[in-house]
Amino acid sequence: MRAYDIIKKKRDGHSLSRKELASFFTAYLNREISDYQISAFLMAVFFRGMTIDETISLTEIMLGSGLVLDLSDIPGPKADKHSTGGVGDKVSLILAPLAASAGIIVPMISGRGLGHTGGTLDKLESIPGFKTGFAIKEFKEILSKAGCAIVSASEDMTPLDRELYALRDVTATVESIPLITSSIMSKKLSEGIQGLVLDVKVGSGAFMKDMGSARKLAKNMVEIGNSFKVKTVAAVTEMNEPLGMAVGNLLEVLESIETLKGKGPDDLTEITLFLGALMLKVADMESDMEKGKNKLKGLIDNGSALEKFKEMIQLQGGNINVIERQSLLPLSCLDIDVLSKKEGYIQSIDAEAIGTASMVLGAGRKTKDSTLDPAAGLLLKKKTGDFVKKGEALCTFCTSNEDEVKKAEEIFLNAFTFGESPPDKRQIIIEMID
Ligand code: URA
Repeated sequence: MRAYDIIKKKRDGHSLSRKELASFFTAYLNREISDYQISAFLMAVFFRGMTIDETISLTEIMLGSGLVLDLSDIPGPKADKHSTGGVGDKVSLILAPLAASAGIIVPMISGRGLGHTGGTLDKLESIPGFKTGFAIKEFKEILSKAGCAIVSASEDMTPLDRELYALRDVTATVESIPLITSSIMSKKLSEGIQGLVLDVKVGSGAFMKDMGSARKLAKNMVEIGNSFKVKTVAAVTEMNEPLGMAVGNLLEVLESIETLKGKGPDDLTEITLFLGALMLKVADMESDMEKGKNKLKGLIDNGSALEKFKEMIQLQGGNINVIERQSLLPLSCLDIDVLSKKEGYIQSIDAEAIGTASMVLGAGRKTKDSTLDPAAGLLLKKKTGDFVKKGEALCTFCTSNEDEVKKAEEIFLNAFTFGESPPDKRQIIIEMID
C-alpha cells in the first residue's frame, strides 16, 4: 500500500493492520517517506484516534525500532515509575533511590521539561557535575552498583519515538491519547522492567485536563503494559496545584533532599509513599499497601534512602557534598518576596500559571532550544486552604533576571483565588487503574 493510501485510510476513520503500520513506519525510518506525509498521518490520528490494537502495534513498532535493555545479569526485581508530567513534580528524584533502598532495581529513563512542565533530567543536572547521558554499558554499571540510575534515552533506544515526538511537537499533535500512550510505553518497555507504576496527572497543570481523558490514557497504558507482560498499574492523581512548595530545577532538588530526610511537604510525601508502595506491589515484594508505605517510611527514617540518593549522584558524576552544604550550589542571586494583594482562604492555585511564572523566571524552556537557569524558580509559602493577610508573602521568587520579575509576578498572582472560608480538603490520589 502506498503511504498516500495509509494516510487516507486513517483520515477516513478506518483502522490499520499491524502490517500496514509496520510497512509505513519502516519506510519512514528508511527515509522512503517524508516528514510531511508522517505529519499528515499524525494529524489524522489526532482527529480519528486509534483502536487499542493499533496502539499496541504502534508501541511494538516503536519498541522494535531500537534496543531493549537486558538486565537479566543484574539480580533483583526491576520496576519503574513514570509520571505524565506536571508542576513541582519531583517524585522521581525521591522515589528512584527510595525504591532502590528497598531492593528494587530502578532503570529510570526520563525526559526534559517543555513549556510550563518540569523535567527530571533538567532538575538533576542542576547538581554540579551530574550527568544524564550514558552508554548502555555505563548505565548498567551504575544500576548494578547503586540499584537506581536516572538517565536520558540513549540514541539507539526507541529512535522512532524520538523522530515522531519531534514532529508532533511542531505539528500540534502531542495531545493525542494513542500517540502519548505508544510514546511513553515504548520508552518504558525498552527498560527491560517487569513492573511499572504510572502516575497519570489530571488538572490545570497536566497534559490531561479532564478526568475522562486521564482515565482513558491510564487504561490504555495499563492495557498495553500488561499485554507486553509487564505488571502495570496506574494512579490518576491531581495536578491542579503544584506538588510541594518548590518549583524550579535546583529548588526541587533541595526539596527532594528534605523529603528524603523525612522533612518534606505533606502532599509530596503522601504521593511518593503511595507510588512507592505500588512499586513494591508490581515488583512482587509487598502486596499490602499500608505495609509497603511503612516499610518505605522506615527507609527514609533510618537514612537508607538518602544514602542511595548520594550514591546515585556520585556514580552519575555529581557533587554529593551539596547534600550537606547547600552553599556549594549555584543559588540564584535575587530573592524577591511576592506579596498578596488580597485577603482570605486560598481556594485554588492554578498549577499551569505557577509553572509558567517559574518558566518566565528562567526555570523552563520557552522553546526546545532555550537554555535554563538551574537556580531559577519559586518557593511557595502558602498552599490551598491557608489563610493569607493582605501584604503577606505568598512566595519567594529566585531569579537572576530582574527584567522578567514583573511579568512573572502578574502571572503568579493571577493563579490564586481567595474565599471567606476554607475549601474542602484536596484529594491528591483520585483513582487507581489496574
Ligand atoms: N511524554 C512522552 O514521552 N511522550 C508523549 O507523547 C507525551 C509525554
